Amino acid sequence: MSDHDLSSGNSDVAQNLRDIQDNINAACKAADRDPTSVTLVCVSKNHAADHVRTALVEGRRVFGENRVQEAAGKWPGLRDEFPDVELHLIGPLQTNKVKDAARLFDVIETVDRPKLARALAKHRDTTGECPDLFIQINTGEEPQKAGIAPNDADEFIAMCRDELNLPITGLMCIPPVDEEPAPHFLLLGKIADRHGIAIRSMGMSSDYEAAIRFGATHIRVGTAIFGSRGY
Ligand SMILES: *Cc1c(COP(=O)(O)O)cnc(C)c1O
Repeated sequence: MSDHDLSSGNSDVAQNLRDIQDNINAACKAADRDPTSVTLVCVSKNHAADHVRTALVEGRRVFGENRVQEAAGKWPGLRDEFPDVELHLIGPLQTNKVKDAARLFDVIETVDRPKLARALAKHRDTTGECPDLFIQINTGEEPQKAGIAPNDADEFIAMCRDELNLPITGLMCIPPVDEEPAPHFLLLGKIADRHGIAIRSMGMSSDYEAAIRFGATHIRVGTAIFGSRGY
């Protein structure tokens, strides 16, 4: 864990964003990386539109939501105000929601099984529309967690690309909460390298600086921006 205070319900979004950008810049400098090579995905799940708007007013344009229904209620209105938003789905997607998801999201980060890949391809074939797609890798092989097992990743990526012709542009992972994240970030990078996949979505409020060290191009940060979600 880093020393960021995750428990405060700090709602000073503007200050939080400045602090995070400073941390991103420092982590990039230490890793000899260009800060523009890291995209901050502001995770706005469980936060009301008015609270999310403060980040938009600060100039943030890339956001993550984990539920299709919640995004459908919140984002069409915000998109009217801020048309250049890029919205990412970062939670599990049921095949019966593919149509809604394809309309709402610019990126689906959670392609995690053949059935979903086929449903996305079918939707693309009938409508011509398909968001950019990341494959979720279950780097910790946790039974309760979604994602493709590392050993199945090569076959699944090949199926998505060669058989279904899907636009696989990235990989994402959520390391186990109780483990050092670095080996998981390394593993994701290795799989991405093997397949020439440039985008690596990894790192959250507690570990985004480590993720940057290990090559994250997208970090998904919620609590450190918007405060606690108060489940
Ligand atoms: C909620 C969530 C995040 C953000 O987590 P924080 O710890 O609040 O930064 C990142 N990625 C995924 C997949 C999530 O569901």
